[in-house]
Amino acid sequence: MKHDYDLFVIGAGSGGVRAARMSANLGAKVAIAEERYLGGTCVNVGCIPKKLFVYGSHFSEDFDESAAYGWKVGDSEFEWSTLLENKNREISRLNGIYRNLLESPGAEIFEVHAELEDAHTVRVGDHRVTADKVLIATGSWPAVPDLPGREHVQTSNDAFFFETLPERVIVVGGGYIAVEFSGIYQGLGVDTTLLYRGPLFLRGFDDSVREFVRDQLIEKGVEVRFNAVVDKVELTNDGKVAHLSDGTDLVADEILYATGRRPLSSSCGLDHAGVQVDENGAVRVDSNYQTNVPNIYAIGDVIDRLQLTPVAIAEGMCIAYNLFAGESRQVSYEDIATSVFCQPNIGTVGPTEAVARSKYADLHVYESSFRPLKYTMSDNQERTYMKLLVDGDSDRVVAAHMVGPEAGEIIQGLAVAIKAGATKADFDATIGIHPTAAEEFVTMRERSR
Ligand code: NDP
Repeated sequence: MKHDYDLFVIGAGSGGVRAARMSANLGAKVAIAEERYLGGTCVNVGCIPKKLFVYGSHFSEDFDESAAYGWKVGDSEFEWSTLLENKNREISRLNGIYRNLLESPGAEIFEVHAELEDAHTVRVGDHRVTADKVLIATGSWPAVPDLPGREHVQTSNDAFFFETLPERVIVVGGGYIAVEFSGIYQGLGVDTTLLYRGPLFLRGFDDSVREFVRDQLIEKGVEVRFNAVVDKVELTNDGKVAHLSDGTDLVADEILYATGRRPLSSSCGLDHAGVQVDENGAVRVDSNYQTNVPNIYAIGDVIDRLQLTPVAIAEGMCIAYNLFAGESRQVSYEDIATSVFCQPNIGTVGPTEAVARSKYADLHVYESSFRPLKYTMSDNQERTYMKLLVDGDSDRVVAAHMVGPEAGEIIQGLAVAIKAGATKADFDATIGIHPTAAEEFVTMRERSR
């Protein structure tokens, strides 16, 4: 049976757009539906505006720093509305680029809600189309626990559009978004409190990194409270009050919940087509991103493997080439480098020390901690931390962890070396670039453990 399209993609975020445009480039007749914003979370309410906010907030430290270098900077004043306007303008520009990326190879864009009516039929706004294959790339959405006063809290979706910069913020959570936004607010001069329910945030990251980041955030003035559980939120004349289970009440202008993101799978008609999802709403797929309904595929946050833009893009590429170029690509989920843009940044690739210890009988740990050269002229107490993990049996470097300025930029390069199987001897034979922080990774000679 001839369908209207070879591929219909639901969701024009990072993964969906990549799959749609590569499939169209490969000659497929493609349509893509998006009901919110082209580019999805990453472009509109995620990675990109977040990084712009991080840049914006870091200037306060740069101004302070500059005095030690002889600059006399007058009283600085921060205007939230300017940052917001400029950010919004840049995001609109990126939305336009995404539109071009889709239209140039001939993908048809529907900017309306789309949902499956059956395995091959999609209701797009008020009409129906059919497709041979359907790709679900609907992403994820912030998850807020069900607590009394939930309606008074905000999520990252809102934080990108606050009309005024709050003077006091409570951030709840201990993952990527919580530590990133705590740094943003602290840098912008907001009285910032981070509440995490456990003894130490950033679960899943290397323990040394977690402790180091904790110390840096506290040093910079974020009020960090661990084992802090919010029972209830209330709106009062003085602001929003978080009632903690230990009896403490904290008040702020905004309470930002960064407590994870759930797959956004409930409104695209998966049940009409019989597509299975797990208890968390993640679409179940096999190693080829195929659901239990053979012509329906899913990628990105909605399958809840790794909620990272480059992962969704890799999955989108894979789907396009496998479906329309007869290839059998697989995405490698090993050694995916990632960065948390707290201040200073975290960059990491490979297992944590604890995981590596359970994997490698003879693990060599190299560490370094120092004050960056740039800060030696001022009283900025920020420090940098680096760790290399080496499998003693093969001499392979299995992980690199860093907390420091531009850690993401540095670790991206090391990720290539680690992916290529570089040994500690290769690192040692590499001449450093002096003076940089990164050179420390090729000059660590003494094992810590
Ligand atoms: P994360 O999964 O990173 O962290 C969620 C945090 O919320 C954890 O600390 C978790 O605690 C805590 N939490 C979960 N449920 C509750 C609850 N009911 N009450 C209190 N705390 C709770 O989620 P984020 O929202 O920070 O980010 C979502 C995802 O988006 C990230 O996992 C990441 O994949 C992606 N992202 C990537 C970025 C990047 O690449 N730089 C930036 C931002 C987001 P616990 O550990 O105890 O479970």
